[in-house]
Amino acid sequence: MKFLVDQMLGTLAKWLRFCGIDTFYATQSIQDDKLLEISKKENRILVTRDKELILRAQKKDIRVIPVFTRDLDEQLNKVLDNTTVDTTQILSRCSLCNTKLISIDREQVKDKVPKNVYQTNETFWICPNCHKIYWKGSHYDEIIQKIKSLNQ
Ligand SMILES: [Zn+2]
Repeated sequence: MKFLVDQMLGTLAKWLRFCGIDTFYATQSIQDDKLLEISKKENRILVTRDKELILRAQKKDIRVIPVFTRDLDEQLNKVLDNTTVDTTQILSRCSLCNTKLISIDREQVKDKVPKNVYQTNETFWICPNCHKIYWKGSHYDEIIQKIKSLNQ
């Protein structure tokens, strides 16, 4: 399942990526026409609160999930309804640019992460596109907790 999340729902897009879900995030510079085209071409479910865009998508037979709530948990519940998050995929994708992460030698991140992070973690990943470094810190536990609470 792949999504295209519109620019008003940035936090939701980030969380879907945390879950390892392929999520295209629409920045302001992309026109609605283009968003519809990408959704159709890449078979992405459009996630938006833009009523006009919802109507236009429906006319083009693009699957849409309208999200009007501002509550993140409710947003995630709505979007991930009928979807089981594969917990092995959590933190497998860059939250900034959606690229699949690759593992990186611990030695190579030594000067690039805070010292305590380096000392307390064995495994690190890097985004081959934007070079952001990831590790299973407190954020990882928070993500796992949230996903578990959603799947109940
Ligand atoms: Zn990245």
